[in-house]
Amino acid sequence: MEISFSRLHKYETCGAAYHYYYVRGLRPEQVSANLLFGKVLHKAKTDYIKAHALGETDDPAAMFEREWARALGQTIVGFSATQSPEAFHDTGVALAREFPAFWERSGLTALIGPGGQPMVEQKLTVEIVPGVDLRGYIDLVALTADGEMAVIDLKTAMTPAPEATLLIGEQLTDYQILADANRQRLGIESIARVGFIELLKRQVSKTGRGKGPEIVGPTLAPPRTETLVSERREKIDHLVTQIRKGAFFRNPGMAYNTPCSMCEFRNLCLHGSMEGLARPAEAKVQLSAV
Ligand code: SF4
Repeated sequence: MEISFSRLHKYETCGAAYHYYYVRGLRPEQVSANLLFGKVLHKAKTDYIKAHALGETDDPAAMFEREWARALGQTIVGFSATQSPEAFHDTGVALAREFPAFWERSGLTALIGPGGQPMVEQKLTVEIVPGVDLRGYIDLVALTADGEMAVIDLKTAMTPAPEATLLIGEQLTDYQILADANRQRLGIESIARVGFIELLKRQVSKTGRGKGPEIVGPTLAPPRTETLVSERREKIDHLVTQIRKGAFFRNPGMAYNTPCSMCEFRNLCLHGSMEGLARPAEAKVQLSAV
């Protein structure tokens, strides 16, 4: 069995949604604009970091424009009432254009791995409990301006992450576990910092008011303690046991924090309707376009 942070997070959010997605393989017919935007912008910034580490030139704004247009042409995209392709385009270009200057100021240097490639989107696995591999793509392993080894997640978000995400967020804990377990293979020393860089996708203001898009970070913290790491391992063991038992319960929560209002499967879960969902074979085609 192979698991990942996002897979476990989906299970913790709602067992039924996990079942629809991972067991039945259902997918929404439309890809959310937020998801598509995040993927295209992520590629623009990671391509830039790789090129920079290899001494090559790269234009992330041009890359974003090209890939955003291509993705829109190939994908059925769902925009909310307050979103538009043009607004996403303007925000993405602004962030991608700012990224090279941000990168210079950050003092970060992507490490080059044993294969001669920058450690960007590094796929790593570790057997986290017997018979279960934890898999993850670490966005970036870099040296800070102070010469410390850092494991960094590149985020696209509306608002900066809260302190709890930085200090005890499980995605960074999983990254640390993966990097630590693969230190020898990667040829790296112990991890001294974990954290993130955030691209805040606020709309570009037409009036010159408001903050607009912004790049924040690197926001770094000390590595997770042994207590936090072992707690995470125990939790993964517990979650995997529940998944193996087939415990796929609905989790509607309370009115103020229900995951249902944002759930891609709510038509099916609440009304038994497959409207807006693709079955596995169709879902495969849809996913490959993203
Ligand atoms: S609608 Fe709510 S309970 Fe049903 S699958 Fe979605 S999140 Fe779970």
